[in-house]
Amino acid sequence: MRYDDSPPSPESASSVSPDRRWFTRRSGLAVGAAVLAPTLLAGWVLVQLTTGAGADDARPPRIVMPAAAPSPTPSSSAAPAAPAAPQAKGPLAGKTVVIDPGHNTGNFKHTSEIDKKVDIGTNRKECDTTGTTTNAGYMEAEFTLDVSRRLRTVLEAKGLKVVLTHEADRAWGPCIDERARIGNEAAADAVVSVHADGVSSGNRGYHIILPAKVKGGAADTAKIVGPSRDLGERIGSNFARTTGSAPANYLGSGTGLVVRDDLGGLNLSTRPKVFIECGNMRDAKDAALLTSPEWRQKAAQGIADGIVGFLGG
Ligand code: ZN
Repeated sequence: MRYDDSPPSPESASSVSPDRRWFTRRSGLAVGAAVLAPTLLAGWVLVQLTTGAGADDARPPRIVMPAAAPSPTPSSSAAPAAPAAPQAKGPLAGKTVVIDPGHNTGNFKHTSEIDKKVDIGTNRKECDTTGTTTNAGYMEAEFTLDVSRRLRTVLEAKGLKVVLTHEADRAWGPCIDERARIGNEAAADAVVSVHADGVSSGNRGYHIILPAKVKGGAADTAKIVGPSRDLGERIGSNFARTTGSAPANYLGSGTGLVVRDDLGGLNLSTRPKVFIECGNMRDAKDAALLTSPEWRQKAAQGIADGIVGFLGG
């Protein structure tokens, strides 16, 4: 959701009943009905379990290590028993990517905190927003964290160092200025903030938000405007390829690219950074994609391919 969007009404906020999703890595042979994610570490399968736990359930993601890592198919016998973190080679060596999962599922319960204004250099703006939901109540913040984790897995398999700005390991936030600061302090080579939009039905498709050239207070984007556009164009084209989605039909004139000067997360960044709005959660056709784990894996792969291309890998 774009940061200047109005938060959902109290009615829609209170109707949200987020189901807690856990991520579990298991043997592909052991989980017949699992969602196969062939780009994950060899022989492992990402399984998304819906537990039905309430929103107050703050248990962390559960990682289950397989006793052994059998190959996903009988013909694939090259999988190592215990895959070690690969070392990046060539242009990817030593590179860091910061991924910013937009919003936080806890923001709905901390509206006074997230409504407090923070300094974005050119202006003052709310710390964060709740984000949007699908009409059925799937929260944008759940979506952004899921895609971000999948993206991290793909990038780490390339040997890249990956930092997430949060993992719902805090009650709310971070604020938009802190999200930018995390990327800056990590000296990130690329930063991507993951979102989904919340506009009226019939508006469909993805778009990438690029930083405008702004200067004011702590904001000075002159050095990141060019590389951020390169990063954004690469992510957009790869995202379109892997997901089959089209550029947004409601802004960007069909390019899938939008330049904005009002986002603290971009204005305060000193590192190449873009936002991606992966689709419109309020459109039934887009929502069917956004709520699909298989589609989210494709989305993560496309974003990852764009980042890797930008980094020269
Ligand atoms: Zn958002």
